[in-house]
Amino acid sequence: MGNRGFKLFSFLVLFLTFSCASLSTRGDSRLPEVQASLLKEKISNGRLQQIFVKFPLKSKKDWVSAYETGDLTIQAEWNQKIIPFFIDQQDNDGIVFRGLLGIPYREPVGPKKISVQIEFDGYQWEQHLMFEVFEGKYKAEKLRVAPRKIKPNPSDEKRIEKEYLETRKIYQTRTPIKYWKGPFRLPIRSGVTSPYGTKRLYNKSFSGYHSGLDLRARTGAPIRAPESGKVVLAKPLFFTGGTVILDHGYGLFTVYAHLSKITVELNQILKKGDRIGLAGATGRVTGPHLHWGMTVQQAKINPLEMTKKGIR
Ligand SMILES: [Zn+2]
Repeated sequence: MGNRGFKLFSFLVLFLTFSCASLSTRGDSRLPEVQASLLKEKISNGRLQQIFVKFPLKSKKDWVSAYETGDLTIQAEWNQKIIPFFIDQQDNDGIVFRGLLGIPYREPVGPKKISVQIEFDGYQWEQHLMFEVFEGKYKAEKLRVAPRKIKPNPSDEKRIEKEYLETRKIYQTRTPIKYWKGPFRLPIRSGVTSPYGTKRLYNKSFSGYHSGLDLRARTGAPIRAPESGKVVLAKPLFFTGGTVILDHGYGLFTVYAHLSKITVELNQILKKGDRIGLAGATGRVTGPHLHWGMTVQQAKINPLEMTKKGIR
């Protein structure tokens, strides 16, 4: 096939893909005129994308109850991940469902496609939304830490693997409760000592990126829940030392690391401002501080994304 022929072929594939997506809605009076949209058409790696699905006013009451009984399901799919939706707001225009999506730090740049899928009464409706990922501006730094924390011995490796699988399983959970209400607070009111996303070179050999935000904190300083959530992990881990993970619902989690003391228990429900523990220097660290991380649909994003004004 020549270049021209290939272009035509690509166009046809693209055309068919998108036209098929909307065909299922035509002539089907049971499904509403749903509008799906994204918060950002262009977004960098490490940031928060939001997906909105709006149902018109005339059917408001029906759709809420259908959603609550499970007759109506809404989800989005991206990179083999399923994004759950919650009721965002109801006003005079209609009812809006919303889902959160974290853009992974290592996500390749370029155009991306999200599939939004709605099912009701045996009918399926699908729409594709496009957005573009560009590379965020993140700095680089060099660090020196204890060699054992970089080249772990075999028994360390076993522990690391076990803890990796345990936390991965937690982050795959989709709790259908929206614990948070508004913008997140900082877990300790202090300065940022290392921002999210910094490219890191440990002892000139091992490289990674800073998957969270470091806040200045002396050993013993109280760390508080930035929003409501459920304690889903509370114990020491190899790399992160004294660690607490909070599940805020719908695939959104926060992590608190290097704690000298944990003052919460597994499955405890915390309110915004409740104490989680005390800051420290446990795990792979160069000194006492709080490492604060945020995971959204298994992607570690900048926790400041949820502290912004207007976030709900
Ligand atoms: Zn950190």
